[in-house]
Amino acid sequence: MNRQTSETYYSEAKEVILGGVNSPSRAYKGVGGGTPVFMETGSGAYLKDVDGNTYIDYLAAYGPIITGHAHPHITEAIQQAAADAVLLGTPTKYENTFAAMLQEAIPSLERVRFVNSGTEAVMTTIRVARAYTGRNKIIKFAGCYHGHSDLVLVAAGSGPSTTGNPDSAGVTKNIASEVITVPFNDTHALKEALDHFGEETAAVMVEPIVGNFGMVEPEPGFLEEVNDLAHAAGSLVIYDEVITAFRFMYGGAQNMLGVTPDLTAMGKIIGGGLPIGAYGGRRDIMEEVSPMGPAYQAGTMAGNPASIRSGIACLEVLQGNGIYEKMDLLGQRLQEGIEQAAADYQIPAHVQRVCGALTVYFGVDSVKNFADAESSDTAMFASFFHQMLDKGVHLAPSKFEAWFLTTEHTEKEIDQTIEAVREVFENGLS
Ligand code: PLP
Repeated sequence: MNRQTSETYYSEAKEVILGGVNSPSRAYKGVGGGTPVFMETGSGAYLKDVDGNTYIDYLAAYGPIITGHAHPHITEAIQQAAADAVLLGTPTKYENTFAAMLQEAIPSLERVRFVNSGTEAVMTTIRVARAYTGRNKIIKFAGCYHGHSDLVLVAAGSGPSTTGNPDSAGVTKNIASEVITVPFNDTHALKEALDHFGEETAAVMVEPIVGNFGMVEPEPGFLEEVNDLAHAAGSLVIYDEVITAFRFMYGGAQNMLGVTPDLTAMGKIIGGGLPIGAYGGRRDIMEEVSPMGPAYQAGTMAGNPASIRSGIACLEVLQGNGIYEKMDLLGQRLQEGIEQAAADYQIPAHVQRVCGALTVYFGVDSVKNFADAESSDTAMFASFFHQMLDKGVHLAPSKFEAWFLTTEHTEKEIDQTIEAVREVFENGLS
């Protein structure tokens, strides 16, 4: 596959953009390097690059593009928003409509605020939890990614009864001393952390279904235990549903699993592809936020009509009959095809799937926490990624990311993908 123009653009990019990319994983470091493909257009389940090559897309822009690229209903909403005024700096009726839609879909969102990214949404839920409880610390789970604000860029310390270490240069030890990180699906570790730090803990933050070390479901009873243990310590529970909201059903993972957090952070899908974040939860907690309460949060772009109208249009598409059932069935078809190929060619591939989102791990039998995901074979994944790319299948460039189906994938794309997987497995992953 000729990607000469991507090569040229990447060389040019490195002269003007730090590292040539505006978000690090786009530089293919997780797959042993290479030249990132410069995409030009997207339509439905397909992307076209600057050299005219087409790809079946499973990156879905890291999740937001659940209705496929350039969905006509969303495109029309964005065009109309642009024609009417892209930014007003005042309230608009669209914010009311959208907040009501979110609240109807996810009843725990008694009050909502819109921001501009998942990072901002998560960061603000932590501030609100601290304001409400008057406590400083947070507990989170290893491998769950919550954006790039300081408090969530903290790695585990030496165990559940120790605070963390900075996971990025520029994050101070003081900040790391406010965060405890424990393994996902490990209630004993959570209990130990809360036994030690419970009285200082403002919130326990969790992705209710993990999307950031592949697709990993909570074990039965785990999230109920998170709620019970946190609440018994007087701490709040925050769900980071930036990936999961509207991914598996019209609503959040919390609806699907029947568990209710105190606060929820969202992003990605709810913007229909434009920048957005939102957070919300119990009314008495949300009333900590300015202008009602003392916890400050603001934004020039917050609730901008383009993102809001794009988000409304996206949810309208997702209200269609059978949308999620179809993605689930196609996800199952893809999973079975990959598993069959792995068996036929004796490749140690393991698939974990939740509805239309799945991850292919190599060299492990099951992934329940970050340590399991880390132990999967990086070199095999890298080889798989590059070979699939050359066959016109666009995956996320990291063994920790998920494949996302969209409403526009059909059996045709799934079967072509399985065929590509079979060819790659037959060729081998070295
Ligand atoms: N939370 C989760 C679960 C995410 O996966 C991400 C991004 O991947 C974020 C938060 C941060 O969102 P954003 O990239 O919009 O800032």
